Amino acid sequence: MAQEYSCRIYDRRGELIQVTALKGGGRREFTPLKEIPKDLQKAFLKQEDRRFYFHHGVDWFSLLQAASQNHQSKRIVRGGSTISMQLAKAINKDTSLNFRRKFSDIFTAYRIEAKLSKKKILELYLNSIYFGANSYGVTSGARSFFGCELSQLNKGQLQVLSIIPRNPSFYNPVAFPEHFKIYSKEIEQAAHTAHFYKYPFKLPHFINYVISDFKKNNQKLPYKLTTSINLEISQMAEDFLREALEEARPSRITNGALLLLDNSDGSVLTWLGNGDFFDSENSGQIDGVLVKNQPGSSMKPFLYALAIENNILQPGTVLADVPTEFGNEKLYIPENFNNRFNGPVRTRIALASSLNVPAVSTLNKLGVKTYLEKLYELGFESLRENDAGLKADLGLALGAGEVSLKELVPAFSVFIRDGTYLPLNYNNQLTNGRQLYTADTSRIITSILSDKGARALGFGYTQTFQTDYPSIFKTGTSNQYQNIIALGATQHFTIGVWMGNFSGNTVIGKTGSSLPAWVAKNILDKIENSTTPFPEPEHWHKERICSLSGQKACSNCRAVVTEYVKDGTELPDCSWHTSLSDSKEISTVYPPEYQQWLRSRPDKGLIEYALSPLTFITPKQDSLFFYSSLNKNQQAIPFEVTGGSESTLDIYYDEKKIATIDRPFNFSLPVNRGDHSCRVQCGNEELILNFSVK
Ligand SMILES: [Zn+2]
Repeated sequence: MAQEYSCRIYDRRGELIQVTALKGGGRREFTPLKEIPKDLQKAFLKQEDRRFYFHHGVDWFSLLQAASQNHQSKRIVRGGSTISMQLAKAINKDTSLNFRRKFSDIFTAYRIEAKLSKKKILELYLNSIYFGANSYGVTSGARSFFGCELSQLNKGQLQVLSIIPRNPSFYNPVAFPEHFKIYSKEIEQAAHTAHFYKYPFKLPHFINYVISDFKKNNQKLPYKLTTSINLEISQMAEDFLREALEEARPSRITNGALLLLDNSDGSVLTWLGNGDFFDSENSGQIDGVLVKNQPGSSMKPFLYALAIENNILQPGTVLADVPTEFGNEKLYIPENFNNRFNGPVRTRIALASSLNVPAVSTLNKLGVKTYLEKLYELGFESLRENDAGLKADLGLALGAGEVSLKELVPAFSVFIRDGTYLPLNYNNQLTNGRQLYTADTSRIITSILSDKGARALGFGYTQTFQTDYPSIFKTGTSNQYQNIIALGATQHFTIGVWMGNFSGNTVIGKTGSSLPAWVAKNILDKIENSTTPFPEPEHWHKERICSLSGQKACSNCRAVVTEYVKDGTELPDCSWHTSLSDSKEISTVYPPEYQQWLRSRPDKGLIEYALSPLTFITPKQDSLFFYSSLNKNQQAIPFEVTGGSESTLDIYYDEKKIATIDRPFNFSLPVNRGDHSCRVQCGNEELILNFSVK
């Protein structure tokens, strides 16, 4: 007696996402008897089976009466069938009108009555009868003709609904409302309110995933499922994704996917498997959230976090971005985003700017297996399959192992949750989180990924990541930009956007490379409003370090940055900036591993003002100026500063803040006799210049 039922799937606000279709395309929703309006039950019993509670499945009196009426009118006008017999008929799936079938119905009806209570029979009956319009059961009947839930039907509509099954094509209230005239004015009026309801077909990839997930766990879909989806946010997200795909079309990017999670419980708010499900030309039905792609640099935070955790490095530790052999012929290290090797770079910059050699050397120190174990814990099951992760070897540092957005996004959210991993869920099946990184490590990673200045070396200054609320971002590309991924997270949300194409066509140019980040940022802009800063690590403190060597800043260092240093760490004084014994000149002494890089570097000067350390161009350190008592009102000392990581510069004159200026950093200070200092601060970089006026 098992019948197939549709599942109505709702979003977290109670809006219908889909009512799953039966194999044949129709819909049969289930509602327990106690939730079916009493008036509707009564109407059906009155219409179909007045003595329902008194007979044992077959109402012989009613059958004989019907036979006699049919005989008189020489055609079948009434069936005389009880509700049990009609249920039997629905189950027997034999719709012919003959006595053999009727006999079989009678037989089945007796069996049904012997097995089931009257209430259960009525429940099954009300949930199976046919209403036309490919709809079975009162719930789908109500929805198909009145576009609402059973509980929302008015009295007249309840009556209309109870009449339809007598002859669904004749009593079709949309086509023939006048056929209800013979009952009452109220019923006829109600019939006039009928309209064909278009069943929603939203988030088809997500719904397919839900269905397959239940199947995988050998569970039947319930008749009603409330998911964590927010359809309002989904619609907004879909608009942005489609706009970006439109923009990316000339680059031959045809597909895009998006996953948005709620950080508080790891639940899915939006799941978009593709821009357009019905775009068969570009395999629109494939779910991009589940497709495995090379994640490129988007996985680097997991690597550096583990290296920090294992005391291999700290954000101030300098790594060598120079051509390096790793004794692995298979390893291909793609060129950096900025198309050059950058020499010594602090870990903060190496991660934020996605530099490749430092990542590989970090993995080399950490060990591929150690890293893989962490990735498995983070839910990257794809890397376990066929030893994909092991095969990628050191290439894992560059995102060579293929993973899905469904794996990436929950993993990325650990940094916002102080290192706690929560598996993705969509229907409040909450599990306990697992602590995979310490809170402090996570906070250090968060401070790096939210550092706009540190990103500048790799990506230049883009507005893409400028948000009014604390946020972290990481992007990744692979295979000549065939895959572009952007991950973003804020206090409350984590989002992942993938763009590329399923066909494997080469994407043309870099045009599309910032589009996923654009989509992610725009969506977060609409939903995040928390301005609470990310928490500071507890067992780390800030120290002034040399921006070049990462060692303790000394008076010779040209640029100084403040950086987190783990409590208990003894930083050595900067040994790169030394003044040779007999001269006042300060020179930079690079360790031997940078010598070759220094020779091959074509431009020893400043590359681009924003990408180099903060530097005073004029005046020189310890300059001496002479005060003239003549035109004293026109005298000023011009200053010029370049480099730096932010777009504004704070100026302190004798330790008093006098101004904040925009680029270019040109300003003047008044001339007053005495020794003075000018301190400038740009992001977390600062410089002090001393001068005297006589
Ligand atoms: Zn130094």
